[in-house]
Amino acid sequence: MSDESPTIKANEKRHLERAISLAEAALQAGDEPFGSVLVGADGRVLAEARNRINTGEATRHPEFALSRWAADNLEPAARAVATVYTSGEHCPMCAAAHGWAGLGRIVYASSAAQLTQWLAEFGVDPAPVAMLSIRDVLPSADVIGPIEGYDQRVYALHRRCHTG
Ligand SMILES: [Zn+2]
Repeated sequence: MSDESPTIKANEKRHLERAISLAEAALQAGDEPFGSVLVGADGRVLAEARNRINTGEATRHPEFALSRWAADNLEPAARAVATVYTSGEHCPMCAAAHGWAGLGRIVYASSAAQLTQWLAEFGVDPAPVAMLSIRDVLPSADVIGPIEGYDQRVYALHRRCHTG
């Protein structure tokens, strides 16, 4: 793949790839296509999560799961330097959880605004929660996205999810 995005490094692309793979795994399991990876300051993957709302629990978003994992398993200093790579920008619930857990940087493949536009295109009812950007919820967050090329792969997963 060509280097569409000057804003993320080669090693970060690997983590974004993994987040999208997790989103695809979620879709294959009958959940919605969202996946996220928590990476420590040394570049090591600490935890992974995918959407699991098919359980009937609509708050089981991967970004929320990673915030809880981090709060349970990492010291505050380690949380602050950890990065979340995610297929889709955090929803307001997950952005708040990220902030309360004191996690660091976020790299997302596709934005909440893109998702809103895609769902409208597919004729899906809008989400019951306002799709604010992470910056609306966490004004001082270090956030990068959407990442050109990766966003279109996430689009393809949502298209499969909603149009078959
Ligand atoms: Zn969420």
